[in-house]
Amino acid sequence: MSSAHVLGQAVIGLTAQTIEIEATISNGLPQLNIVGMSEHRGKHSRERIRSAIEHSGFKMPDRRIVINLAPSDVPKEHAGFDLPIALAILIASQQIQADRFKGLCAMGELSLTGEVRAVPGLLIAALACGQEGLTLLQSSQAQVARQTSLSSCFGIRHLSDLKLPLRPMTAINLYSNNVPAESDAALDDIKGQETAKRALIIAATGGHHLLLFGPPGSGKTMLAKRMLGLMAPVTEQEAVEIACIQSVTKGSLPGPQFERPFREVHHSTSAAALIGGGSPPRPGEITLAHLGVLLLDELPEFTHAVLNQLRQPLESGSIDLSLAHYQVRFPANFQLIAAMNPCPCGWLGSRRPCRCSVEHITRYRNRVSGPILDRIDLQVEVPALDPNVFFLDAPKQSRHEHNAAIDQIKQARAFKKQRLRDAPLQNDREALDAGAKQLLMQAAQTLHFSARAIQKLIRVGRTIADLDCRAVISRKQLEEALVLRQN
Ligand SMILES: [Zn+2]
Repeated sequence: MSSAHVLGQAVIGLTAQTIEIEATISNGLPQLNIVGMSEHRGKHSRERIRSAIEHSGFKMPDRRIVINLAPSDVPKEHAGFDLPIALAILIASQQIQADRFKGLCAMGELSLTGEVRAVPGLLIAALACGQEGLTLLQSSQAQVARQTSLSSCFGIRHLSDLKLPLRPMTAINLYSNNVPAESDAALDDIKGQETAKRALIIAATGGHHLLLFGPPGSGKTMLAKRMLGLMAPVTEQEAVEIACIQSVTKGSLPGPQFERPFREVHHSTSAAALIGGGSPPRPGEITLAHLGVLLLDELPEFTHAVLNQLRQPLESGSIDLSLAHYQVRFPANFQLIAAMNPCPCGWLGSRRPCRCSVEHITRYRNRVSGPILDRIDLQVEVPALDPNVFFLDAPKQSRHEHNAAIDQIKQARAFKKQRLRDAPLQNDREALDAGAKQLLMQAAQTLHFSARAIQKLIRVGRTIADLDCRAVISRKQLEEALVLRQN
């Protein structure tokens, strides 16, 4: 009897676990048994491996082969075990030398003709290998961007390439091009809407969720799209997180340029598509929007069931998905922008007549449940645009207003950093001056603000004070915060 050991990686959610693949070849009827992976996957894998070996100038040993994948209770939900299993068979049957593959971990799907294909989650496996000092052997076709400092990879195109010396893959640094893509969307493109633009700047500075309400065509989506350009440049750590999510969903990466994601979700989207799920578990829209913007258009049209599922991610920045035997946690730390019409027909408060009854309007607005509204700090009206202004579109806008906003946000971020360094323990309430405190008392008494609403007001006031580079929150800043939550 002869045997061989090869390493592989199981990808569970956004983490990877090393799997040991053991092959034993003994006398007996020719057969290939795979244990430690689901029957269904094992059956398909067996056919691909057998055919790939025979089409690659190797010979499938006509003896009894048993493959064991350990630990057996770790789900092995991708086809990437084809390559390490084939490798183990070839080593155990002495068709290739074991010592050439020491410290190596393999991941790749085989075609019937022996081609090595990329599988989802390669980047996650590569990073895990890097942490354990292993080198990943994978498809050279895979455009897995990676940081050379974190991992190293060998690429092969075909199983027959195992006969040749292995070649390290050309490294693409994830973070080599950290110049934010000069997105075409600038604030200057939007005429008027000063309040909404100001709300965008405050939201981008303080990471506040934002609700825009106004009639169709008032530019709610246009405004939301400008948010990306106002957010901070992607950090190195964030680039890795965004890339890992893309690695699971696409299996390949667009390239070294990293932008924050922007996901626009329609109300017909199912809870599973929004939140994530399935087997193997796939990230939903909230995870695809991680570190970027999630736009929910026509918020009241979403079902209660779907909106309720947003509570956990809005609270914790992540989502737990329970599957048959295990749990997966996906990150979901997004900037929420929700948009809604002022009434079911959409024209309330605009030049066109609204046909909705008061009852209808109330029911429509109540559809957005309290728990979601509670987590949206800024609620701003986007009135219908004056058509004369709307069509007065200059050929190519300058980016003057946009660049000024970015400078202001940058300055506020720097101020906040220094403020937190100077007084790390001060809570926002302690930063209120006498005038601000008085205003809060009035709001609580006359406007019947709840404790939570007061808290939101202070949070927004804090961000406005940061934009003004003031450590103390004054009445003026709280007044502006009040205006920016009209609902
Ligand atoms: Zn209406």
